Amino acid sequence: MKNYDVVVIGSGPAGYVAAIRASQLGLKTLCIEKWVNQDGKHVNGGTCLNVGCIPSKSLLDSSQKYWEVTKDIGIHGISVKNVNFDVSKMHERKKKIVNQLTGGVSSLLKANGVECAFGHGKLHSSRRVTITDENGAETEVTANNVILAAGSKPIEIPVAEVDNDLILDSTGALEIDSVPKRLGIIGAGVIGLELGSVWGRLGSEVVLLEALEDFLAIMDKQIAEEAKRIFMKQGLDIRLGARVIGTEIKDKQVVVTYRNGEVIQKEVFDKLIVCVGRRPHTENLLAQDSGIEVDERGSVFVNEYCATNVPGVYAIGDLVRGPMLAHKGSEEGIMVAERIAGHKAQLNYDIVPNVIYTHPEVASVGRTEEQIKASGDPYNIGTFPFAASGRALASNDSDGFVKIIAHAETDRILGCHIVGPSAADLTQQVAIAMEFGSSAEDLGMTVFGHPTLSEAVHEAALSVSGSAIHMPNKKKR
Ligand code: FAD
Ligand code: AMP
Repeated sequence: MKNYDVVVIGSGPAGYVAAIRASQLGLKTLCIEKWVNQDGKHVNGGTCLNVGCIPSKSLLDSSQKYWEVTKDIGIHGISVKNVNFDVSKMHERKKKIVNQLTGGVSSLLKANGVECAFGHGKLHSSRRVTITDENGAETEVTANNVILAAGSKPIEIPVAEVDNDLILDSTGALEIDSVPKRLGIIGAGVIGLELGSVWGRLGSEVVLLEALEDFLAIMDKQIAEEAKRIFMKQGLDIRLGARVIGTEIKDKQVVVTYRNGEVIQKEVFDKLIVCVGRRPHTENLLAQDSGIEVDERGSVFVNEYCATNVPGVYAIGDLVRGPMLAHKGSEEGIMVAERIAGHKAQLNYDIVPNVIYTHPEVASVGRTEEQIKASGDPYNIGTFPFAASGRALASNDSDGFVKIIAHAETDRILGCHIVGPSAADLTQQVAIAMEFGSSAEDLGMTVFGHPTLSEAVHEAALSVSGSAIHMPNKKKR
């Protein structure tokens, strides 16, 4: 039986990154993956590359181009006639990007000396791993260390069973072949808003039914309120406190019943997308004798270094606690591989950026105002609207604002929340500053190029102490 230093189960952004780093550090590494794509090919890359981050961003960008040409271009003095789009070409483009990137991951694994096995991996006792291929043939290997990186799957709800025709999950929603006239989405979370934006820009009437009363409950409240205002202005019909309690197919349409307080309401849609979150993918991953503990949410239980309760077995990415984000899993993969190799790696979970790739984007890093207030820490806030940014106005993209929160005594930045153009990249600048323990004053003393969107970050940092230049300060210095 072959023995490896490291066996990784799953080649999503958590698993493939862990495997590459382990191999880079001289560890004999095997990465097991079971994904078969639409063309029947074995591919690496997991949810992120195949049916997640990348295909969704491809469609978001294609639909945004159409939106800009049809809705916004006139303001630049440009008129365009007979603008059309072809959904099948958008899908072709998306597929090409996905194939390029999944192929790229396989090449990277190979170039770094990682051995790849295609099949279903299962962990048994004593770090034995079985690999079952599509014909049912089983191979067994042993490992000094196992990294579980099996990712997550869409949550299914009995009131809206996915039929892959009229009722879809996020994977099906990335393959819709013609624009539905009326599109219903259950769950106004990150994925629901992104997919709603894609089809809304292409002409669907989009209704998002969200059970919670609060919009984007995990985001900073002030930012979430502004985002909701902007999305509603764009035409997304976001209904809060709307819990879906039933669906029925009638005349090739979906009749959705939802409860809003005491009131029961119905809506008819041409397609319905279920986006109520994702759950850890542990099916048939852990043999009974593996001894691995799973928590009440189905996540593999791990400590801050991603070690499970079984020595030599680690778990990373969507399979474990924390936000289900590709970059969080990748960083966990690097940390675990380095710790296996004897390094003292750790991950700063307090500084993990979170982004919604709508237009404008919504992005955050660090704690929200609500979390800081609840902790009792004294704080100051600085904000700056994109409406006062020369660059945002020049681009006709001036919705939203930057909000920076700093500790009132130390001035250390505790959080940055942005709704606005390029919010993801701007937030990343503040994440870097936070990682280096920056104060708002440090950021305020940094020279920012002009005219850039990042000047809004600079001004928000200055505004923490009432020193903004390009808007009146509420607070006096
Ligand atoms: P996965 O990517 O799910 O990979 C796990 C892999 O393990 C899969 O390939 C699976 O086939 C394999 N596997 C599972 N069980 C076994 C087994 N027993 N044997 C062998 N192989 C197995 N995150 C972001 O950060 N930014 C975004 O913009 C973003 N957009 C998203 C958009 C959509 C529509 C969706 C659905 C998700 C999005 N996400 C985004 C979330 C992101 O995709 C996940 O957080 C990320 O893919 C998790 O990485 P992972 O490696 O833990 O798991
Ligand atoms: P996210 O976790 O960001 O993908 O968001 C999923 C959203 O779906 C959450 O905000 C949930 O409140 C919402 N949700 C879950 N079940 C239902 C339901 N039956 N009806 C409406 N919304 C729901």
